[in-house]
Amino acid sequence: MEYETGKGWHNARITPFADLSLSPAAMCLHYGQEVFEGMKAYRRADGGIQLFRPRENFKRLNQSNQRLVIPQINEEDALQGLEELLKVEKDWVPHSKGASLYIRPFIIAVDPFLGVHPGDKYLFIIILSPSGAYYASGLNPVNIYVESKYVRAVRGGMGFAKTGGNYAASLIGQDEAHKQNYSQVLWLDGVEQKYIEEVGAMNIFFVIDNEIVTPMLQGSILPGITRKSTIELCKSWGMKVSERRIDIQEIADAYDAGKLQEVFGTGTAAVISPVGHLKWNDKVMEINDNKIGPISQKLYDTMTGIQWGEIADPFNWIEKID
Ligand code: PMP
Repeated sequence: MEYETGKGWHNARITPFADLSLSPAAMCLHYGQEVFEGMKAYRRADGGIQLFRPRENFKRLNQSNQRLVIPQINEEDALQGLEELLKVEKDWVPHSKGASLYIRPFIIAVDPFLGVHPGDKYLFIIILSPSGAYYASGLNPVNIYVESKYVRAVRGGMGFAKTGGNYAASLIGQDEAHKQNYSQVLWLDGVEQKYIEEVGAMNIFFVIDNEIVTPMLQGSILPGITRKSTIELCKSWGMKVSERRIDIQEIADAYDAGKLQEVFGTGTAAVISPVGHLKWNDKVMEINDNKIGPISQKLYDTMTGIQWGEIADPFNWIEKID
């Protein structure tokens, strides 16, 4: 679909996958005016296809649009367009257990112009890519490194938006983590560098003394859809959940006091990702003996059960395509 000032969004169509033709001066290439989303389509045992909370993705896309001065999309039209695309391309949704079809909607400013201002012309594209099971053999704990030098987002910045610039800012931390044999980075706040924010592509949760604790949304972290679903599930199970500021020192103290029971990340890719080791400066914390904890496992089983249509969906999270 295309956008032009004065004309609005128009020319929605389904075309075979192909390279794009863009001017070398296209504004998205120089000034980063682009936003995206990540979601999945799942194949049920009866062969049908379904999406998990897709309205949340299009709502978040519009929140990103607002921050990047990109025109709003009609969320219901976008969902309808995606459903039509999935009906045409339904054979791409894998049948094998744990596999799914990754869906990447994105919008880029395409005006050929050297100079910083919001564009007048945009492309909204949805690409599809089958993805294999994230965990081939059970849930493997990941090792996370707390980044103390660089920051990913600041208050008033665009950390809450899903835009390439945020990921560009995170590459150096990820590179540093990999060099130290850690697979992911845990980012701290951009002001005092002591409050926990999020992992590279996941939100983060802690189980401290039987309470579920996660950083509150203050504009600098992505409002994850798996995060929201995790909070809703835990509350429905009668667990105590707090969304608040979490000082990294508090986590180290809870660990020393033997009260840090579980740490896990949440995101569309892995759904629930248990953390086995957390490194903060010279301190390496081994969480739950590097094993998946009961709350992480229950969340994973419930969330993936709903996503694959294996268990009931009391929250109405599922959108059936057929
Ligand atoms: N934070 C960041 C920076 C991410 O890229 C993602 C993945 N979209 C998440 C959190 C988790 O969000 P969601 O649960 O919507 O996938």
